[in-house]
Amino acid sequence: MTLIPLTELQRDIQKTARDFAQRDVAPLAAELDRESRFEHALVTRLAELGFLGMLIPEEWDGLGLDATSYLLALEEIAVADASAAVLMSVHNSLPTQMLLHYGTDAQRERFLKPMARGEMLGAFALSEPDAGSDAASLRTQAVRDGDDWLLTGTKAWVSHGTHADVILCMARTDTSDARVGAKGISTFILTPDLPGFSVGKKEDKMGLRSSPTVQINLDGCRVPGDRLLGAEGHGFTYALASLDHGRLGIAAQAIGIARAALEASARYATERKQFNQPIASFQAIQFKLADMATRLTAARTLLHAAAAAKERGERITRFSSMAKLFATETAMWVTTEAVQIHGGYGYVTDYPVERHFRDAKVTEIYEGTSEIQRIVIARDLLAAVSRGDVDGLLTD
Ligand SMILES: Cc1cc2nc3c(=O)[nH]c(=O)nc-3n(C[C@H](O)[C@H](O)[C@H](O)COP(=O)(O)OP(=O)(O)OC[C@H]3O[C@@H](n4cnc5c(N)ncnc54)[C@H](O)[C@@H]3O)c2cc1C
Repeated sequence: MTLIPLTELQRDIQKTARDFAQRDVAPLAAELDRESRFEHALVTRLAELGFLGMLIPEEWDGLGLDATSYLLALEEIAVADASAAVLMSVHNSLPTQMLLHYGTDAQRERFLKPMARGEMLGAFALSEPDAGSDAASLRTQAVRDGDDWLLTGTKAWVSHGTHADVILCMARTDTSDARVGAKGISTFILTPDLPGFSVGKKEDKMGLRSSPTVQINLDGCRVPGDRLLGAEGHGFTYALASLDHGRLGIAAQAIGIARAALEASARYATERKQFNQPIASFQAIQFKLADMATRLTAARTLLHAAAAAKERGERITRFSSMAKLFATETAMWVTTEAVQIHGGYGYVTDYPVERHFRDAKVTEIYEGTSEIQRIVIARDLLAAVSRGDVDGLLTD
């Protein structure tokens, strides 16, 4: 039984992703985590399946699939390895979507097509050391130099920035007045071969250890004029619009992590004996499993309702924030319970729930913290109230 009605094609994609994830991704996940190793072969395999161009129309060499299919596949990859899932999520949701929606045909030809085929890996560089939740306060500067731009500053926390071939980078093109804030930001298409571009410090993280997260240093980085994406000064709007969709991906990642933890816990509870019986026979453990499954199902249902709204072309800012907030807090809660069900064995690396617990935490932080999601949701609700729109409290 499923609460989310799936088409035959969506079921096929889910099955393909599940088979691939369980056969090729899951067996390596613990080792890659232990060694903090990025496995490039994984990118190649994801590309072969078309999983790096799922949301890109066929005319730009993608699979042209709907959001539901993509989120189902992403969840399966996350069940196997959360680090592989963040790669898939960032690439599919942020840089490729920005190029698709705001790029010129020439930019799409040069960058989007190879990205959709998975021959080029995309990254997203909005955050800076001093500009996280308040991303509009970013300080990287872009100044004109003839036909080119010169970018100077430090971008922080760039997921798979070590291996990215194309980085969509937000920088300030209008520095005339601090009050211009978000309005003075533009987006540039960077490639690592540009003079003045270098990969900096690699973060030593709690989780997602096989997804390298790095700083990118721009030291007068010379960027040709045709690498400006869309209109000058509109870069922050493009980034926020992409994050609306990106947050659905992070929700799917969180659901995958939580599902892996629930599956491991249910299995363990039937195997582990105390007081001469499987711990699954204790009502205290049964109730934990029941609550984990219930919250997970609610998170998944909310996510797929938001995805369906996106497919209908509706504005999903509030619902993507709700889906991300609820799924990621569910993942943290479920993985905490999973460790508890495993007792001491949940606290060591012999069992996977320790990794799921560490991996879950960051989903509450990136692409907007839980606090920021609550701000977005509340702002939207209060706007409905001020319009006197009672229906808008529950819809949009
Ligand atoms: C593993 C990892 C991968 C990442 N990948 C990328 C990437 O690929 N590209 C990219 O651009 N960024 C990326 N990020 C950055 C991420 O988006 C930021 O870490 C996040 O937005 C939070 O910013 P911050 O870390 O500076 O925290 P801060 O903004 O300093 O927040 C600190 C605390 O204050 C709270 N807070 C801040 N402002 C408010 C407020 N107004 N009201 C209430 N509470 C508030 C926050 O919720 C948080 O609890 C990544 C981060 C991590 C950890």
